[in-house]
Amino acid sequence: MRRNLLMLFIDGLGLGPRDPNTNPVFGGACPVLAGLLETNAFPVDATLGVQGLPQSATGTTSLLTGINAARMVGRHVEGFPGPTLRDVLSRENIFLKLRASGLKCAFANAYGACSQEEVSSSRLLSATTVAALSGIGRLRLLDELMAGKAVYQDLTREQLREKGFPVPLITPTEAAQDLTGIAEEHDFTLFEYFQTDRAGHGSDAKKKKKVLSLFDSFLATILRLCPARGISVILTSDHGNIEDGLSTGHTMNPVPLVVVDGIVSLAGASGARRAGEFFRAGRIKSLTDVAPAVVSWFCRNDGEKGDSAL
Ligand SMILES: [Zn+2]
Repeated sequence: MRRNLLMLFIDGLGLGPRDPNTNPVFGGACPVLAGLLETNAFPVDATLGVQGLPQSATGTTSLLTGINAARMVGRHVEGFPGPTLRDVLSRENIFLKLRASGLKCAFANAYGACSQEEVSSSRLLSATTVAALSGIGRLRLLDELMAGKAVYQDLTREQLREKGFPVPLITPTEAAQDLTGIAEEHDFTLFEYFQTDRAGHGSDAKKKKKVLSLFDSFLATILRLCPARGISVILTSDHGNIEDGLSTGHTMNPVPLVVVDGIVSLAGASGARRAGEFFRAGRIKSLTDVAPAVVSWFCRNDGEKGDSAL
């Protein structure tokens, strides 16, 4: 039975008013994403019940662990997680929980390094990186990127080339093909795209449009390939940003949770078909609900697998 799940974590994407004059997401640059948000998204609270603007370190830690990291440290923490958040991420992340149930997990992002030692010695590690190092034990590096077994965070590898790595550029469509291949080989695959947050922090409307357009090409291919191969897709974020074209900071908007079902033809695989129904059934109201819901979905499918085998 196919039960693969691909989670697209899009940093800095909130649900804002559908006004093309103020919301770049509805300005025509990303029709696939806009359509999904219009018809298939439900709102998830990103404030974590803590005053102030939601931020990445605490938001992503909450998303990946199910623990309210902002409440734990008493504030929203920007950027990279410090020792306290790293400790939580290392002990309680979604990869660890799924792997404890015997599931195969992948963090598909490629790290711009040639060795695991180089990664571990880096002082600034993102929340996703800390979770992957603890839960999977390693990151995907340049050799796997070149073999199509990893995807660079900007999709096309342009930024990697700018850093001096002699890698060939690829299209967002090719990046999506690579990611689909990884998701096919794993029960749970996470991919992080944070150019949306970076562009949202700037005031360059053309840059926002370019980032959204590039992501949209990628997303279109993901949605063309994944469901047909039995891979369900979840798209979510840690906080809002790019949806407010009038500001250059994070927003208080809820973030979207979009679930697109994998289409499975095998008899008895109804659990995988109903991923959307499962995740939309009031289970997810806050960032802290996402990881527990994903773990529950896999556990439920395990049960149905047993039933269908009778
Ligand atoms: Zn940000």
